[in-house]
Amino acid sequence: MTERVFIGQCDSYDVATIKKVFREGLEVLDIDPRLFFGGKKCVLKPNLLLPKKPEQGVTTHPAVIQAMAELVMEHGGEEAIIGDTPGGPFNRAYLRALYKTTQMEVASSASGATLNYNTSQVDTPYSEGRVIKRIDIAEFIARGDILINMAKMKTHGLTRITGGVKNLFGAVPGLQKTEYHMKMNEISHFSNLLVDIARLLNPPLTIIDGIEAMEGNGPSSGTIKKAGKIIMGCNVFAVDIAMARIMGINPLQVPTIRMAETHGLPAKLTDIEIFGEPGSEKFIIPTGKREITLFARILSEKWVSRVHNLLQPVPRFDKKICVGCGICEKHCPPKVISGTENKNPEIDLDGCIRCFCCQELCPYEAVTIYRPLLGRIIFR
Ligand code: SF4
Ligand code: SF4
Repeated sequence: MTERVFIGQCDSYDVATIKKVFREGLEVLDIDPRLFFGGKKCVLKPNLLLPKKPEQGVTTHPAVIQAMAELVMEHGGEEAIIGDTPGGPFNRAYLRALYKTTQMEVASSASGATLNYNTSQVDTPYSEGRVIKRIDIAEFIARGDILINMAKMKTHGLTRITGGVKNLFGAVPGLQKTEYHMKMNEISHFSNLLVDIARLLNPPLTIIDGIEAMEGNGPSSGTIKKAGKIIMGCNVFAVDIAMARIMGINPLQVPTIRMAETHGLPAKLTDIEIFGEPGSEKFIIPTGKREITLFARILSEKWVSRVHNLLQPVPRFDKKICVGCGICEKHCPPKVISGTENKNPEIDLDGCIRCFCCQELCPYEAVTIYRPLLGRIIFR
């Protein structure tokens, strides 16, 4: 059975226009908004990676969130709750700053939605999980009646693109994300984790804000690309396939989609039915982290590490931009960054697991991802 995905054309962040596109999408997806939203606590989960302004293209735009929150309330929703667990700390003070900068405050006051300040978590069993059998999920997400997954169309140094599936990693609170990066540092393990989380949460509606997308050094310091698209679907994996198609990358070259295929989930363009026009954008996509398991099998540990450093992408610090805030050092899972206090960050590359949290979380865009020449030739 193919999964329906709706792709709507939308060239501005005008709330009324976005709502019109949403209504069209709901109709295509056979969703009756009264039944879907009516009487329910609807959790709207944007991508709020960092406190960045909407025009920086890092976070889901507040107009997109406002449009959905208004639809929820107009169709009898009990409550629309806006919230995410960001890349930084998950506490009240940080959330307040996050909501202000990303303008979720504006989306909330204009629509009557609530901003989440509950920082509790719920230990959630998941016996069907391939790599997790239980996981802590932010309580406001676990206790909602329905989860509306509202991601941003962006590139990503680790997973190549970040859309619906990766956005759900944000349901895992604060520092636990770091622990998972550390425990599952092979891209196949990490992708399996993301697929497990997506299956556990199973959002009935995923929306991608691709009106202004990001290419290049995503997910936090890439270049804005106007794609003019809103993607909607009831299956998060199907939505990501359509997003990959729009961004000009073969879905099976995206680690999470490739892993989804091994779970028997939609992974190919033939698994989805697209309503709307995907267009033919060509995004600049990072090459991402690759498995080098063949080398690991035949070489000693010391040589595996050397081969790794020759082939895998590495974070590079622009010391002229670095302000010495120390965020990268604090959040580096294996603690291999030093010298940030002197605005002179250095990495012990042998210990670097290539999670790219440093690049993702640097608020000053001082970190880029560079793949050594040999890696570029082999993994073209
Ligand atoms: S997060 Fe960015 S600005 Fe802060 S210390 Fe690291 S590289 Fe420098
Ligand atoms: S240096 Fe950056 S990429 Fe390497 S392990 Fe630390 S945070 Fe991850």
